[in-house]
Amino acid sequence: MNATHETMSFQAEVKQLLHLMIHSLYSNKEIFLRELISNASDATDKLRFEAIANPALLENDADLAIRIETDSKARTITITDNGIGMSRDEAIRNLGTIARSGTKEFFEQLSGDQQKDAALIGQFGVGFYSAFIVADRVTVETRRAGVPASEAVRWESGGDGEFTVDAIERAERGTAITLHLREGEDDFLSAWKLKDIIRKYSDHISLPIRMPKEVWDADTSAYKRTGEWESVNQASALWTRAKSDITDEQYVAFYQHIAHDHEKPLAWTHNRVEGRNEYTQLLYIPARAPFDLWDRNHRGGLKLYVKRVFIMDDAEQLLPNYLRFVKGVIDSSDLPLNVSRELLQESRDVKAIREGSTKRVLSMLEAMADSEDQAERDKYASFWQQFGQVLKEGLGEDTANQQRLAKLLRFASTHQDSAEQTVSLADYVGRMKEGQDKIYYVTADTWNAAKASPHLEVFRKKGIEVLLLTDRVDEWMLSFLNEFDGKELVSVARGGLDLGALADEEEKAEQQKAEDEWKDVLTRAKEVLADKAKDVRVTLRLTDSASCLVSDEGEISGYLQRLLKQAGQKAPQTKPILELNPSHALVGKLRQLAGAGAEGDADAFADRVHVLFDQALLAEGGMLEDPAAYVQRINKLLA
Ligand code: ADP
Ligand code: MG
Repeated sequence: MNATHETMSFQAEVKQLLHLMIHSLYSNKEIFLRELISNASDATDKLRFEAIANPALLENDADLAIRIETDSKARTITITDNGIGMSRDEAIRNLGTIARSGTKEFFEQLSGDQQKDAALIGQFGVGFYSAFIVADRVTVETRRAGVPASEAVRWESGGDGEFTVDAIERAERGTAITLHLREGEDDFLSAWKLKDIIRKYSDHISLPIRMPKEVWDADTSAYKRTGEWESVNQASALWTRAKSDITDEQYVAFYQHIAHDHEKPLAWTHNRVEGRNEYTQLLYIPARAPFDLWDRNHRGGLKLYVKRVFIMDDAEQLLPNYLRFVKGVIDSSDLPLNVSRELLQESRDVKAIREGSTKRVLSMLEAMADSEDQAERDKYASFWQQFGQVLKEGLGEDTANQQRLAKLLRFASTHQDSAEQTVSLADYVGRMKEGQDKIYYVTADTWNAAKASPHLEVFRKKGIEVLLLTDRVDEWMLSFLNEFDGKELVSVARGGLDLGALADEEEKAEQQKAEDEWKDVLTRAKEVLADKAKDVRVTLRLTDSASCLVSDEGEISGYLQRLLKQAGQKAPQTKPILELNPSHALVGKLRQLAGAGAEGDADAFADRVHVLFDQALLAEGGMLEDPAAYVQRINKLLA
């Protein structure tokens, strides 16, 4: 049994959040009303949903609404809803802890710098605790739908680390939250001010928000309450209204409500789809990636409604995983009200919605990316910076839209002098050289490493652009994307580099000649490196570097092998091919050392071959198996 009166401590993160919020969100304090109205609205959504299976929960009170009342003597604001309410345990858990995934990681990101942290907190969403921005005491009285009046609960806190819970008697279902205003916050007692804030942030809320009706009383020259209530919002679900009746501000406010985001969205699309499947979609692209985008538990962001009844949050079946950053609402006219997550997985209607919504999102992105308007293209650049890596997952996940997605990709390239990813495959193809029929790329851990890769030397010499790929997902993505616009995508680190028509006859003859001249040296070098290299060749692809490693046709690159290893996955054990630059002095010496007689020196030859191999490995960001041996050999050479 529960004790009737208990004093409890907030979770450490809550204490931290309360402290930060009170100090950093001070300039934007009116948001508390939006947060509390949002929670009241969620609570009535939940009740409506649970009542589908259990109508008794409505307790003969189906007029779901929010009431907001002030008391100027007591200096309080009370926000009341007749939604689902909370049991004692729920009140303790929901109002004393933060259960959201990634909370711990989020708090690790806080820097103590107020401005930075305020922006982060905006992203995290402050929710219920924002009440403490304006209140120095908050009282919550609540009774869960379906439980007797004697089992209600009062939760109270001064926001300073502890809260109390008491058993109370409460006939009304749902929750009443009373804010005892801090000194100096009397502005919020004005009904005008509150109505103004409600219109600004909460007009889209689909249930009525009511306030006491007031009329002007000439005798006292003041407003007087009539004892009736009046609605202060439009109270129709935003997505059900005609587009022409919705202002940008309303779209933005609705986004902030459903996405728990304080920033404006980058773009949105609102459509009523008719025909075989009927549904309304209102989809938003956020301006900034949420802190938990890469969290395994991060769920997609679409809310599912059926005929305006809220069914579930995070209905991940409504969009493919690579679009998990999209927020919004789908309201279906076809699905049954009692649809479950399992049912969603199999439903053909859901499949149609997912395809339709995917197309809409891609169109939205294309419209930004291809716009005549520089401001729109800038928006796309910022989208790419935030979500590009997630979108890349789509190349593997959504093969039906692969070429559409490929057009949306942006890369760093040797064409420009910054690490920014701004080059599209179409840009690249537009700049291809006479005779070039392939798209060349290099993969590496960092932009600097990619840019300095020895493999680029021949391309630089010939003035051929190479894409510089440094995101972890790139290698994986490229295993799905083999061509664009009929042109094959080719790694510059792949063995048997075929420059096709780009190599002139002279070069081909030169290569042949070098191979003949170096035959003996190469055979001996291969013996030296029997454990490490699959083959040793001469190459004309290098101009400045002495050596480089390439992977054989059809085998995975050294870079991918390292990525897989880091990720704890088994990588197939493949040996690279060592390529030597015959015009480099370090390599030239090999021929002397390999020779017979006085010049020949088998040990010096072997040392030099090892050094050339290890250097090539280092240059591509690999790790030496035996660094000490490398240092000794280098020292011998230096001495
Ligand atoms: P969020 O709304 O993002 O879940 P909040 O901090 O706003 O986070 O609210 C925390 C939780 O407290 C809610 O998820 C809900 O379970 C509970 N809650 C808050 N207000 C109400 C209310 N008016 N009625 C019922 N439950 C509520
Ligand atoms: Mg909330």
